[in-house]
Amino acid sequence: MKELVVISGKGGTGKTSVVASFASLAERKVIADCDVDAADLHLVLSPSVVETHAFSGGVTAILDPRKCDGSGKCLEVCRFEAVSRARVDGEWIYSIDPLACDGCGVCAHFCPSRAIAMEEVKSGEWFISDTKHGPFVHARLGIAEESSGKLVTRVRTEARRVAKEKGFDLIVVDGSPGIGCPVIASITGADLALIVTEPTLSGEHDLKRVAEMAAGLQIPTAVCINKWDINLEAAQSIQEWCHGKEIPVVGLIPYDDAVTAAQVAGQSVVEYSDGGAASCIIDLWTRVFGMLGA
Ligand code: SF4
Ligand code: SF4
Repeated sequence: MKELVVISGKGGTGKTSVVASFASLAERKVIADCDVDAADLHLVLSPSVVETHAFSGGVTAILDPRKCDGSGKCLEVCRFEAVSRARVDGEWIYSIDPLACDGCGVCAHFCPSRAIAMEEVKSGEWFISDTKHGPFVHARLGIAEESSGKLVTRVRTEARRVAKEKGFDLIVVDGSPGIGCPVIASITGADLALIVTEPTLSGEHDLKRVAEMAAGLQIPTAVCINKWDINLEAAQSIQEWCHGKEIPVVGLIPYDDAVTAAQVAGQSVVEYSDGGAASCIIDLWTRVFGMLGA
C-alpha cells in the first residue's frame, strides 16, 4: 500500500485544491483529511457520513462537589490555574475549568476526599464517509483542543484500515500545514510527501522549513509550485534551491481563476475546468503517481 501526503509550509498555498483534484484523478484509493485544525476538503468532496466516532485526546479532572470537603488542596497544587473557588453562603465552593485543565492528575492524587476523578474528554470526532471519488476519512477537532497530532494519527490509521478492507493500494492524504506536531503525525512513515508552495519570500522560507523537517524524518519529497507565474524570479529561486537539495520539482501550476471558481462550485479544478491549472495538475498527478510506483 502506498501513501501520498500533500503538505505545505503554511495554510492557503492551494494544497487542498491539489488534493481534491488528485481525489478526482486517482483510482481505487482512500482519501484522508489530516488538516484537522482547518479541515476543508469536505467542502469539495461533499461526503455522506457513514460512520461517526468520538475521539478522546486525553483526560480532564472532574470535581464532584458532593464529596468535596473544602480542603483547598487542589487549588494549592494545580500549576495550570485550572482550579478556582467562590464564597457561597460562607463556604468555599471549588470548581475546575475544563479548558484550563491540562489533565496532569495531580489534584486527583492529592485530594483527601477522593472528590476528583480523571475522565476521558471527547476532543473531537472522526468520520468515514462515502464520496463520489471514493471512501473518505476525516475529522473535526473540538474547540480549544490541542490533540490534533493524535487525531491525525487516528485518521491515517483508519484510512489504512479502510483501504485494506476494500483491497485498495493507495491513500491520498491532505496533510496538516506548518511544521508542528500535526504535520509530523501526517507524514511519518509516508511513501511520498508532496510539498505545495507559492513563489513568494515567505512561501520559499516555509518550503525550506517543511522540506528540512521531511528530510529529517527521511520521507521522500517532491515540490509543486502553485501560481508559479505570479513571480517568476521567486519561482526560479525555489527551483534552484530544490535542485541543490536534489528535491524534484514535479509541477508548476499557473495562476488560474478556475481554481477559485471550482471551489465556489464545490468541485475539484480538474472536474470544473480543462484550462491551464487543470492540465498542469493532471501532469503533476501522472508524475507523482509514477514516483509512488503504486
Ligand atoms: S482537594 Fe478535593 S476536597 Fe480539597 S477542595 Fe479540592 S476537591 Fe475539594
Ligand atoms: S488535572 Fe492537573 S491541570 Fe487539571 S485541575 Fe488537576 S492539577 Fe490542575
